[in-house]
Parts: sequence; C-alpha cells; structure tokens
Amino acid sequence: MTQEDYSAVKDLLKSPKSIVIVPHKNPDGDALGSTLALQHYLNALNHNAVVIAPNDYPDFLKWLPNESEILKYDSQEEACNSLIQDAQLIFTLDFNALNRAGDMESVLAASSATKIMIDHHQQPDDYALYTYSDVAMSSTCEMVYHFINNLGDKSLIDKNIATCLYTGIMTDTGSFRFPSTTSDTLRVAAFLMDCGANHAEIHNQIFDTNSYDRMQLLGQALSNLKVISESRTAYISLSQEELNTYNFKKGDTEGFVNYALSLNDIVFAAIFIEDKQQDIIKISLRSKGTFSVNEFARAHFEGGGHTNAAGGKSETDLKSTIDKFISILPSYNKALNDD
Ligand code: 5GP
Ligand code: MN
Repeated sequence: MTQEDYSAVKDLLKSPKSIVIVPHKNPDGDALGSTLALQHYLNALNHNAVVIAPNDYPDFLKWLPNESEILKYDSQEEACNSLIQDAQLIFTLDFNALNRAGDMESVLAASSATKIMIDHHQQPDDYALYTYSDVAMSSTCEMVYHFINNLGDKSLIDKNIATCLYTGIMTDTGSFRFPSTTSDTLRVAAFLMDCGANHAEIHNQIFDTNSYDRMQLLGQALSNLKVISESRTAYISLSQEELNTYNFKKGDTEGFVNYALSLNDIVFAAIFIEDKQQDIIKISLRSKGTFSVNEFARAHFEGGGHTNAAGGKSETDLKSTIDKFISILPSYNKALNDD
C-alpha cells in the first residue's frame, strides 16, 4: 500500500462503517490472531466489525480474546450472508485468492463492499481495491501491527490486540525459528509484550494443551514416516481409519509435518491426510532453503502458500496421491540436491 492508499483508508475509517473481516478456510493462529486483532482495533474506532470464519478451527485457538464472537459461515450461512451483503468494507486476511475462503467465495466476489487484503502469501490475486501484500513478512499479524502503526494508531494497541497479534506471529514463525523471522519481527513481538501480551501463557495455550489421543496419533504418524533419500524428502501419511482410532479432532495433526522436515539431510517434507468426509487428501508441504513448495503445490496439488510452507489437496485416494507424489519427485532431484 502506498502513502496515498493509507490516506484513503484513513479517510474511509473516519466515519463508522459496517465491516466484515475474513480469515482463510481452516483458520490457523495467524489467520485468527490477525482478524481478531483487526476487529478489536476497528471497534475501538467505533466501527461495527465482525469476524466471519469460513469454518471451525482447533480448540487450542478457542481462548483468543473475543474468539467466542466469531461467526462461522458453514453453520450460520444466512446471518453471515446478510452481514456480507450489508458490509461497506471487507477485509480479507492471511489469504490472497478468494477460493481460500471456501464456500464464502461467491458471496465475497459478488459483494460491492470496498475490499482490503492484508496478506503475506506468494502471488496475490487482484480482487481488492487496497492490497497490502508482503511475502517477506513473517505473518499477517506482523502486517496488521504495521497497518495499525501506519494509520498512526500504535497507541491503540492494548492487551487484547497485542495478545492476538503475538499469537499469530508466534505460530507462523514456529515460535520465532523459521527464516521468515527478522529482527523487526522480534522488535514487534517485544513491543507486543510491552503492551501486555503474556508470551509464556500464550505458548502454553497453543502448545501445552495436548490430549493423550493426539500424542498417540503423533506416534502413529511417526511410525508411518518414510524417507526418499535420493530426493532428500520425507513424508508421512495418515488414513481416515488411523485418525478415527485416535479420535482425531481438528488441529490434531498441526505441526506433524515438521517432524519429517527435522530429519538430518532432508529438505522437503510432506504429510498426506485422508479426509473421507470431504473425499479429499489434504496435503501439507514444507521445505528448507530455496526449494519452493508454493510452486510445487500450485503445479501438482491445486494449492499454494509460501516458499517454505504450502498446502494443497488431491481428489484421488491416499495410495494414488502418494504414488503421484513419488513419481513426480525425481524431476525435482536436481533442485532438491542443489541446496
Ligand atoms: P498448512 O500446511 O499449515 O495447512 O499450510 C501451510 C501454508 O500454506 C499456509 O500459509 C496456508 O495458508 C497455505 N495453504 C494451505 N493449504 C492451502 C491450499 O489448499 N491452497 C493454498 N493456496 N494455500 C494453502
Ligand atoms: Mn500466515
């Protein structure tokens, strides 16, 4: 966003507006942290802002300030549609293509509201009037901090906003360890602590609330781990039957793919998770170094994301999906062995 864009947005925000804020489908810590923080901020400016999530999210996010007010499109479609139709402004956060909003795609596309995108994924679409896209940013939460700061309202960042923003920065940076973490990221996190974000409590809420079933499912995932050393690749699969055995709940497989990536000399990791309800295989991809899983997901699995973290899906069965993955890999051997 240019300086003129910020002035225009500031003008838009001068009088109270009906505002809808949307995170991506299957929202994660960054998507929910950024949308809730923006909602707190806009409501502090006397707007009527609501967060509408395309669908539900894991229990370990169900403590964020104002989380209980989030509307879920898949279970409250009528109420959500009327809010979207009446909205003067729509913010889309932590995604950059309307199909990432799931079933909300068509109603968002049809809305005449002014759209503002804040996002850090690669290759943004052009649906918003104002696009704040920066692929170098650790997280959308870090961007929402800059957005508020650039509007001259840093002093409005209170404990609730700081808690939401710190959560998303922490989750998207893998607790500040991924290369996307910059010294600026740490300065923003430090500022958020000064505003009241309790780093130990937030970490505890997200990472130390495991169920016994989830730990057993992790054990299953690790025993399914396979290595293809000539491609410096490791992958995990989980069938619906295995998920059922351990009473799978949304979010239980979050972070499993990182165990595959943590193997010595592995630069590319994948997890394939069967979802019989949606009849798809959900795929998460991670890499180290320059190998772009965003490009890989776009080319082969209808997905996208960042250079080192992306996702996608397959509409064939688990075995065929993994067979396809294994058959594609050799054409990337050079890139995977170059790093
Ligand atoms: P995860 O593997 O944790 O679900 O997602 C990793 C990254 O890829 C996140 O930034 C997420 O937003 C993005 N992502 C996950 N699934 C998809 C997908 O199906 N399509 C696109 N475009 N991005 C995805
Ligand atoms: Mn993000």
